[in-house]
Amino acid sequence: MAEANFLNEINKRRTFAIISHPDAGKTTITEKVLLFGQALQKAGTVKGKKSGQHAKSDWMEMEKERGISVTTSVMQFPYRENLVNLLDTPGHEDFSEDTYRTLTAVDSCLMVIDAAKGVEDRTRKLMEVTRLRDTPIITFMNKLDRDIRDPLELLDEVETELKILCAPVTWPIGCGKEFKGVYHLHRDEVILYKSGLGHMIQDVRIVKGLDNPELEAAIGSGLLETLRDELELVQGASNEFDQELFLEGELTPVFFGTALGNFGVDHMLDGLVEWAPAPQGRQTEDGKIESDAEQFSGFVFKIQANMDPKHRDRIAFCRIVSGKYEKGMKMRHSRINKDVRISDALTFLAGDRELLEEAYAGDIIGLHNHGTIRIGDTFTSGENFRFTGIPNFAPELFKRIRLKDPLKQKQLLKGLIQLSEEGAVQVFRPLINNDLIVGAVGVLQFDVVVARLKAEYNVDAIYEHVNVSTARWVYSNDAKKLDEFRRKADVNLALDGGDNLAYIAPTMVNLQLAKERYPDIEFKETREH
Ligand code: GDP
Repeated sequence: MAEANFLNEINKRRTFAIISHPDAGKTTITEKVLLFGQALQKAGTVKGKKSGQHAKSDWMEMEKERGISVTTSVMQFPYRENLVNLLDTPGHEDFSEDTYRTLTAVDSCLMVIDAAKGVEDRTRKLMEVTRLRDTPIITFMNKLDRDIRDPLELLDEVETELKILCAPVTWPIGCGKEFKGVYHLHRDEVILYKSGLGHMIQDVRIVKGLDNPELEAAIGSGLLETLRDELELVQGASNEFDQELFLEGELTPVFFGTALGNFGVDHMLDGLVEWAPAPQGRQTEDGKIESDAEQFSGFVFKIQANMDPKHRDRIAFCRIVSGKYEKGMKMRHSRINKDVRISDALTFLAGDRELLEEAYAGDIIGLHNHGTIRIGDTFTSGENFRFTGIPNFAPELFKRIRLKDPLKQKQLLKGLIQLSEEGAVQVFRPLINNDLIVGAVGVLQFDVVVARLKAEYNVDAIYEHVNVSTARWVYSNDAKKLDEFRRKADVNLALDGGDNLAYIAPTMVNLQLAKERYPDIEFKETREH
């Protein structure tokens, strides 16, 4: 009996993230999704619009001003018989590394496309990332209350540009001021749209069947004719939904609607709970752990500081891969090979922290981090092992960081190392001098670091130019050769925040020469934790 309950808890979970280009409507959809999840009484509080309630630290102010979201949050809510975990992905291009790691923690993705614009840059990039793990994709064509592009053309663009087959599940009737609703191809019914009700869950009017005389009265004969013609084309030219192809990431069910008008979001959610996979297992160094394994296991994909200034600690986000978390349980922190008792893991209900009693595979729990947890760490009960596949990327931009007040060197170093544990930046300490070099994937991260150093560590830091243009983590199976390399190439070597050896090259040519000169050394662009 307990066994059946355990499996049921896992099978009812769906863990997903939204991928989209900025402004396509990710935030709006999140609000509506939560409205359906009844986590919020009234949608509209996701971006912290009730600003009085959550005082924000400086860097959060900064991200608000710039309209970017640095903060990845996790929201859990019930939908029908299921329990859904939505992981927010940082929206700005600068944070692609964080986004990448967040996508390792989900089992499916919702791709939101602005139907007036079609496939945009950021969506292309994110789709490449989901490809790495063949994550199943559900598509929502948004902003049907505006004049959109020809829906058939949109599907065609998705298919050719993103290399994924489209299976429309709903089909739009008109758009802009003439948007009347959608025809649900699987249910053979028209769901009628009423504008101005986006803030609530609506009592929608449904008309069964295309030949129903009610339909013509509702949408007019012109639109009905267009609908019939288009459906004929769609049924001839596009694909039918296929569960297997969907699970392999080769076919995406497509829904049309308007997030702002809260129309169509529920059709998408119905599809998500019906078709998207329940929590999947993950690879470890010695094979795969399935989600129904009894042993508790999970990995840390994100560390975040000061989400709420009232709690001045850092939270490690851990995706549970298998088993069950129970309050007060003992877990093994695999990298440092130590047992820890966790009695205060957090869950995140629409931004509010709550203490958690139990959690299952697919859930995200927040662990308080006092400096020992790093991105990529594995937690287990019972047998000890490590999950793989959560990388750090070599930064492409570098600056030397210096204090205005030299007495605070220790504080600066502490701050930089903690920020690098979060994965937002890398810090490099050259072997031959006392410089501190900050490496980032995107240029905005430099400003975030200075703002956070000031707000959280009370140090004033400034940047200077440094002659570094790329970095590689270095490895060798031959300890002697590595040692020799360490001596001979010391002017270009540094330790990162986690004391891993890295080669920092002034030019790409220099890196190339080093590779040729030291063939027994591996120079890696990513570092797996
Ligand atoms: P994000 O950057 O992807 O999170 O996008 P937002 O959800 O913040 O939306 C960007 C803008 O598009 C906002 O002004 C929204 O009000 C607007 N928007 C979102 N969904 C719709 C929609 O369905 N119709 C219309 N007309 N506007 C929308």
